[in-house]
Amino acid sequence: QAKARGRNCYQFFNPELRDRAAKRYAVEADLARALERRQLRLEYQPLFSLHDQHVVGAEALIRWDHPDRGIVSPVEFIGIAEDRGLIVSIGTWVLHEACRQLAEWSARRNPALPALTMAVNVSSRQLSAPDFAGVVKDVLDRHRLAPTQLCLELTETAQLLDMTEARDALADLARLGVHIALDDFGTGYSSLAHLMQFPANVLKIDRSFVNQLETEGRGREIVAAVTATGHVLGMTVVAEGVETTGQLERLIALGCEQGQGYLLARPLRPDVLAALLELGSESGPPR
Ligand code: C2E
Ligand code: MG
Ligand code: MG
Ligand code: MG
Repeated sequence: QAKARGRNCYQFFNPELRDRAAKRYAVEADLARALERRQLRLEYQPLFSLHDQHVVGAEALIRWDHPDRGIVSPVEFIGIAEDRGLIVSIGTWVLHEACRQLAEWSARRNPALPALTMAVNVSSRQLSAPDFAGVVKDVLDRHRLAPTQLCLELTETAQLLDMTEARDALADLARLGVHIALDDFGTGYSSLAHLMQFPANVLKIDRSFVNQLETEGRGREIVAAVTATGHVLGMTVVAEGVETTGQLERLIALGCEQGQGYLLARPLRPDVLAALLELGSESGPPR
């Protein structure tokens, strides 16, 4: 078969690469149908206010229930979805589903409590797709959510800066009042330069720094500096990956407002989070 495909197939003589390519091909084909087959679902990791430990919102995290492979992590398939042009349709579904869920929870929540927020991860391909800001506005209107209840989390900020469409979409979203978070801050391609150029109001410190809070070395100072930087810029600072009480205490001492992590709660199925939020019945109390 390699012969039929010609010389360019020399890489398939390496069995490891061949297996990886075959696996990727199978995943791609399955992913193209995952949405219509209803194999995608969202889990929600609660976001806590650190000073009083209340749940202030949640981050939607996609899961793929594959019939043979079991639960596939987004780390494995989001990149493929981006490469194969599937991320826009998947991302639009995520946005709709997360907002639908937030509206449902909000209707069941005691109206005297502050409004819950929903954080949704967005890839740069989505932001540069035609009329992304318009799609977001439609979703918010449909579910009667305030723009400030939605936070869009961006990771590949370096790529975004080169895309005019994405910059325009971000400016429109900021005008709309949607919150913008710089996710995984401090790693990869997100840097101080991007803080200057993005209309972001939330800074999420990557968990690789939070991990270093209790170890010897500069971890604590780095987190302190990043938190102070966010505050100087008027941003809300969120710590990712809080796993120990020691980390939690240090984050509180540093003035970090919000946190997420296995210590506080793992990503949860929607019914489990609803129970944690002590929401009323589906129909909601009379108001
Ligand atoms: P992220 O946005 O930085 O999300 C945080 C990741 O850290 C999640 O992994 C979460 O389960 C994990 N996490 C939370 N607390 C802890 C902790 O205390 N310790 C450790 N070790 N991990 C923790 P997950 O769900 O596997 O998602 C991985 C990444 O996939 C996300 O990173 C995000 O970049 C991407 N992703 C997830 N859902 C979506 C989506 O709907 N759309 C897009 N474009 N990307 C998504
Ligand atoms: Mg995120
Ligand atoms: Mg993150
Ligand atoms: Mg991360």
